[in-house]
Amino acid sequence: MLNFSCVDGPGNRMVIFFQGCNYNCKNCHNPQTIGICNHCAGCVEHCPTQALQTIHTENEKTKVAWNQALCTECDKCIEVCPQQASPKTMTMTVYELIEKIHENRLFINGITVSGGEASLNLPFIISLFRLIKTTASLKHLTCMIDSNGSLSVTGWKHLTPYLDGAMIDLKAWHDETHKWLTNRSNHRVFETMNFLHAQNKLHEIRLLHIPNKTDFMEQIEKVAYYLRPFSSSVKIKLNAFRHHGVVGDALNWDECDKEEINQLANELSERGVENLLTPAIY
Ligand code: SF4
Ligand code: SF4
Repeated sequence: MLNFSCVDGPGNRMVIFFQGCNYNCKNCHNPQTIGICNHCAGCVEHCPTQALQTIHTENEKTKVAWNQALCTECDKCIEVCPQQASPKTMTMTVYELIEKIHENRLFINGITVSGGEASLNLPFIISLFRLIKTTASLKHLTCMIDSNGSLSVTGWKHLTPYLDGAMIDLKAWHDETHKWLTNRSNHRVFETMNFLHAQNKLHEIRLLHIPNKTDFMEQIEKVAYYLRPFSSSVKIKLNAFRHHGVVGDALNWDECDKEEINQLANELSERGVENLLTPAIY
């Protein structure tokens, strides 16, 4: 959870990160958010500050408990986890989360749910957003989601009555490229963007440019033709692939520099795509 962020939607926002993702992106810069901890306790002995402990629950199950006060964020536990998970998570009810949001309500413009993939927790998010919208002291807050777009249109229909906007990742143009990169098809992502745009709930489309890996430059005519109608009202954010946080083969891939992002932005702009955003820092 981040109490304040200026990069996860409009204004100053509280961000809630959900553990677990249905993609397995080769380029993930937060790979420890993909898996769910199974409490194997493999990381406990690697913690240098005893911030991790094995505890026994009432029903005789073993759990790994994280003591945030003792944690120095050295990430040794994440390095040794075989599940691409993290023991540094907490379980909260909607009402406990509402209390935290209430504490910050005077300093923020809204909340953003992120991940992992936040939409995997759809009933929780619907309850959370509904409660925010129906609580007098919180209803000034906007409710946004940062998503890989894999939720079905049926799922979005349940969420949109309480949703102010979504930031959706389009990770590659061709389905084959998308499958190679993420392990999943991008058909749902296009359905998501089309549906949310029609509902006036699409805040931002994010394209990640990985030189020689993603295919936005090769398919520039089709990409621009698709994005152009969105771009009068939706921000088109171009993100540059960097090595920070990445593990495995992707560390050998070329990083994307300012020149390459500007080239992509120019190619899109020349074809009538508006509202383009490029990174402030690389
Ligand atoms: S974070 Fe990973 S290593 Fe640690 S208990 Fe959970 S699954 Fe096991
Ligand atoms: S990040 Fe925190 S919990 Fe994990 S090993 Fe380091 S001190 Fe322990």
